[in-house]
Amino acid sequence: MTNEWDAGRLNSDLDGVGLDTLAVRAGQRRTPEAEHGEPLFFTSSYVFRSAADAAACFAGEVPGNVYSRYTNPTVRTFEERIAALEGAEQAVATASGMAAILAMVMSLCSAGDHILVSRSVFGATVSLFDKYFKRFGVEVDYVPLTDYEAWRAAFKANTRLVFVESPSNPLAELVDIARLAELCHAKGALLAVDNCFCTPVLQQPLALGADLVIHSATKYIDGQGRCLGGVVAGRSEHMKEVVGFLRTAGPTLSPFNAWVFLKGLETLRLRMQAHCASAQALAEWLEQQPGVQKVFYAGLPSHPQHDLARRQQKAFGAVLSFEVAGGKEGAWRFIDATRLISITANLGDSKSTITHPATTTHGRLSPEDRARAGISDSLVRIAVGLEELDDLKADLARGLAAL
Ligand SMILES: *Cc1c(COP(=O)(O)O)cnc(C)c1O
Repeated sequence: MTNEWDAGRLNSDLDGVGLDTLAVRAGQRRTPEAEHGEPLFFTSSYVFRSAADAAACFAGEVPGNVYSRYTNPTVRTFEERIAALEGAEQAVATASGMAAILAMVMSLCSAGDHILVSRSVFGATVSLFDKYFKRFGVEVDYVPLTDYEAWRAAFKANTRLVFVESPSNPLAELVDIARLAELCHAKGALLAVDNCFCTPVLQQPLALGADLVIHSATKYIDGQGRCLGGVVAGRSEHMKEVVGFLRTAGPTLSPFNAWVFLKGLETLRLRMQAHCASAQALAEWLEQQPGVQKVFYAGLPSHPQHDLARRQQKAFGAVLSFEVAGGKEGAWRFIDATRLISITANLGDSKSTITHPATTTHGRLSPEDRARAGISDSLVRIAVGLEELDDLKADLARGLAAL
């Protein structure tokens, strides 16, 4: 067998297949071993048949792998599969979700550029923009996610990038991605959407007009809390720049993690369906409970953007939050009374999690900023996992009984 071996019928024909099929099969190119699963290329470097071969490959005259900071076949399979699911020309994998945001900004923005960020993004994302990017002469402003007039007014002549999370954490607010994309493009800016909470199964931001998609694969793409990783996806002209930065700076994805994520993608839609069904049932149930003052979940008709969520997403996600009686003490008593759900701020895991945003994920904000973001001391957030619905309900009932 030679390296030019023709895989023939061993590789699937994916012309015109659906999302579920892509999630299971896209990106795989079988080796001469004819393995059925995706091979894990756990290697830092690659060998050549001759000095001339090495020279041609280094010069980029022939395709081939040189070093795993540049390319790795397992990572490439993951990148091709996630690109297929997001409908992207190209996807690039990174060592974490934060590394994806870092790589996007480092490769597409320069000193003197202005970036707009939605106000309620992930805490580390705010630190990355405020503490680091600003140091290099990038201007950053924050805009309330749902205020289109504020978005319109916030653009400047040098606005290069707009970065949003939709739905937001922990209040599940949404932005109309198509509407914001139109505004960004009229102003000559790129729109990037952090699609971590929805995954491509529930929402495809590129199809709605966004230019770039960011993932923390650590969450639902892995789905079982095993490893960290991230993705930037979009048009090849932009991905070429992102690849250049990653190959030089090095926050690339480990092939082992890529292999775990490939297994995660195979069950992503089934898991998301189960996560969302349980979250919907719990949200409806919580809304009926006397100790619960308010539930924030876009699947509820009481949610101000329920109609937008129905239009924009295939389902409503599995992160929901609610306010309980008794302020911070009430929220802590509720959390401490649970026995099954894990007290942790993580999400996108088969194990359900519960957290008090005001003193954990959003604890670094000043009380005024927290109030402005709508995160009260009585707010509790749960990320609904895959346990039996009745067991989750019984655990939350323990919380309610403790109020
Ligand atoms: C977790 C998370 C990130 C960061 O991802 P890491 O993989 O932890 O680096 C970014 N955005 C959102 C919405 C997240 O939930």
